[in-house]
Amino acid sequence: MVSQVGANRTVESSSTSGMCMGTPRSDRERQAAELLSRLREQYPDATISLRYRTRLELLIAVVLSAQCTDERVNSVTAELFEKYDGPEAYAAVDQDELAEDISSITYYNSKAGYITEACRKILEEHDGEVPDTMAELTELPGVGRKTANVVLQHGHDIVEGVVVDTHVQRLTRRLGLTEEHTPERIESELMELVPREEWQELTHLFISHGRATCTARNPNCGDCVLEDICPSSKTDSEVDLASGETW
Ligand code: SF4
Repeated sequence: MVSQVGANRTVESSSTSGMCMGTPRSDRERQAAELLSRLREQYPDATISLRYRTRLELLIAVVLSAQCTDERVNSVTAELFEKYDGPEAYAAVDQDELAEDISSITYYNSKAGYITEACRKILEEHDGEVPDTMAELTELPGVGRKTANVVLQHGHDIVEGVVVDTHVQRLTRRLGLTEEHTPERIESELMELVPREEWQELTHLFISHGRATCTARNPNCGDCVLEDICPSSKTDSEVDLASGETW
C-alpha cells in the first residue's frame, strides 16, 4: 500500500513494508493517533504551564504570553496578580503604570493597553465575568482565537477548538500531519484528524515535545520517541517539513 503523507512524500505503509526509519503511518489519522499515544507515555503530566487562580488571571496570563515564554510570564504575574485583584483594578489603573509593571514582557505597552481595555469591556458588557463563548472572547482587545481557545478550555471547561501555538504549528508540519501554514488552517485540519476529547491534550503534548526535544533550531532527532515515524527526522531526511528547507 502506498500513500501520501507529509509534504510531497510518498511512503509505504508500515503494515505492509515493516518499520523503517522516519516512515510515517499510512494515513494522517493513524499518524496522529500513534504520535499522541507515544507522547502521552513520554509526557504523562503535560498541561498548561501558566500560573493563575481565576479566569481573569488566566486571560491576562495568556495575553501576556504572546511571543513571550511562559516562564517569564509566570515570574511577572507572581507580583502582578498580588497588586491587581480583579477587573476593576486593571480598568482603573493608568496604562503607563500597568506597562511599567509588565515591562520585562515583550510588547508590554500594547499588552497593557489590551488588558486595560479588555477589563473595561468585561465590566461594562459582561458583569465583570470573563465571557464563555468564542465570539464574545474574540471581541475583547488582544484576544484572538488561540487565546480564546485556551481560556475556554482551562477557564470554562469548553473545548471548541485546538490551540495552535508556535510549537504545535512547527511539529504538526514536521510530523506530516498538515501542509498548511496558518494556525487557523492547521487547527481546522487537526479538528478533522483527532477526536475532540484529545484536542486539549494534543496541544500540551506537542508543546512539551517542542520544548524538550523537537526544538525550532536544533531538534534532537537521535533521542526522539517519534524518530521512526517522523518524515523530517534528520537521520534520514534532508528537509525540515516545518520550514520546507534543508536541515
Ligand atoms: S526531534 Fe526530529 S525526529 Fe523527533 S519529531 Fe522532531 S524532527 Fe522529528
